[in-house]
Amino acid sequence: MPRRDGCGPPWFSGQLRGCGRRLTAARELILDVMSRKEGHFSVEEVYAAVRKQYPRVGLVTVYRTLTLLVEMGLLACHEFGDGRARYEMIRGSKSEDHHHHLVCTSCNRVVDYRDFIDDEVQLLKKTEAALSKRFRFKINDHVIEFYGLCEKCQK
Ligand SMILES: [Zn+2]
Ligand SMILES: [Zn+2]
Ligand SMILES: [Zn+2]
Repeated sequence: MPRRDGCGPPWFSGQLRGCGRRLTAARELILDVMSRKEGHFSVEEVYAAVRKQYPRVGLVTVYRTLTLLVEMGLLACHEFGDGRARYEMIRGSKSEDHHHHLVCTSCNRVVDYRDFIDDEVQLLKKTEAALSKRFRFKINDHVIEFYGLCEKCQK
């Protein structure tokens, strides 16, 4: 089976015509599953959770639906340095849910943090303004990830 691991465009577009109803059911189930638990989930994890309630769902449908939900602005997709897509629910508006990540390179734990956002805004506004000017680039968004070892993995 062809695979798509990252957050890029789906490899299977065009393969799923006539699956509208199945997609709607999958969409509801995925949102339900993801709204119950905070975190960043791989396609396989979402697939396993959805299958518990809906055993007939296919992996392709899950992929397709996740991509759709990202396009709809309901999920965010991250690749935490390993090129594998992880999905997380956007709670509230995109700006309310704005946060950054600490990624443990040993156990792959991902910590969300919302602290220091105010300090960051000041620093980033300055940096963004300078970058926009220098590269004539219109900046819409940013991603900040810190990589290292979590408390457990340092021991
Ligand atoms: Zn930020
Ligand atoms: Zn760790
Ligand atoms: Zn997050």
